[in-house]
Amino acid sequence: MFIAVDDTDSPDGMCTTFLVVELIKAFPEWDLIGMPRLVRLNPAVPWKTRGNAAVAINIGRGVGDGRLIGEAGDRLVRAYPRLSDEPDQAEVLERATKVVEKWAERDHSDPGLVVLPRQPDESLYRRAVTTIIEKEDALRAVREAGGSCFQINNGRGIIGAASAVAWRPGDRTYEVLTYRHRGRWGTARDISEKEIRQLDARYPSTFNNFDPEVDRPAIIPHTACPILYGIRGDSAPELVMAMLSLVSEEKESWQLFITNQGTDEHIIRDWETLAPNSSYDVAGEVIKGPWTVRGGHVLVGIRADNGTELEAAAYEPSKSFRQKVRSLRKGDRIRALGEVREDRGTLNIEKMEVLSLAPSTVKRSNPVCRCGRHMKSVGAGQGYRCRECGTRAAEAVTEPEERTISLGWYEPPVCARRHLSKPLKRMGVPHRQ
Ligand SMILES: [Zn+2]
Repeated sequence: MFIAVDDTDSPDGMCTTFLVVELIKAFPEWDLIGMPRLVRLNPAVPWKTRGNAAVAINIGRGVGDGRLIGEAGDRLVRAYPRLSDEPDQAEVLERATKVVEKWAERDHSDPGLVVLPRQPDESLYRRAVTTIIEKEDALRAVREAGGSCFQINNGRGIIGAASAVAWRPGDRTYEVLTYRHRGRWGTARDISEKEIRQLDARYPSTFNNFDPEVDRPAIIPHTACPILYGIRGDSAPELVMAMLSLVSEEKESWQLFITNQGTDEHIIRDWETLAPNSSYDVAGEVIKGPWTVRGGHVLVGIRADNGTELEAAAYEPSKSFRQKVRSLRKGDRIRALGEVREDRGTLNIEKMEVLSLAPSTVKRSNPVCRCGRHMKSVGAGQGYRCRECGTRAAEAVTEPEERTISLGWYEPPVCARRHLSKPLKRMGVPHRQ
């Protein structure tokens, strides 16, 4: 029996993954079937709280090899590959509703809870991770799968909750999340930074641990939420070892999640037209720029291979990544991945591959006249003229520009990355400086 919740968090406190630990505690007589799911949905939805994450668990009577995947307070949590028996759906809804009512934020969110005896069609997840879907669509999928719901406020969280259950992990990663004792919520987190700096090297399958550019750990939230830290990676056993290597305050609970983080599943690769609030893979030629606008954002104009013209931007928070976009020249071929913003209509570059570099020249000097003197500029775009003999020339003396960018992939620093963006570390390509 699947239990899923979404939109229970707010910018200033509660977090949706914490509900999973409370849900596990609320069903002590049932086992977990598979790992809890942490599913990120379309990062471009305008009303997301922090990361647009939904969570789900599947409970029943476990059969087979039970693996330790967490500790919820005093309880050792094991995940089983199969089940032999399931709890009563109405009773599960009633008990899970109490958990959501106790913990969900009501002021800034629209929590949704769904209980499903089977998974909705996968298309629900596909649509929820790439586009914006209506609550009615999600409700229909829940009804078709024989499920039931509970909601607070407008219950928009039902969309994410149902979609999290509909996810079939193809490409997947894992995250181990640790939670603080209640008395410490809102206080400074006691955790040694030294070991966090070593995570990438010591546990090579982990990613997005530390941001050297801002010299800050990326595994620790900045809010007063119950999370102590979360480590992401490709190997669940290695995540547990990484967790055990960190020196920190005592954890109240820890929990492994299977996730779609770092998979690029929000990217639409086959497209004809670009629509706002979705994310795309756009290959094409730089036809304009780059130029920098107020606020420090760097833009380029691109003509995609299908003829669509657009502007793409590296926004200020992407820090040093902007320098890479600033190094592009007209005629370069690139692949840019990112969200088309509704407010500006630009593509917000979250990752880019330089496919080819065009010959580029820079001005070396004004033209030299046949009389031996340097010509002077007549005015912007009007060429040059010799003041002695009146000879004119259209172009300055140029030389090939030494390009400061090479072919290959580029991504923003750790702190500016999206949860869903596939890090270059996972793609097996080097991060170029
Ligand atoms: Zn002259």
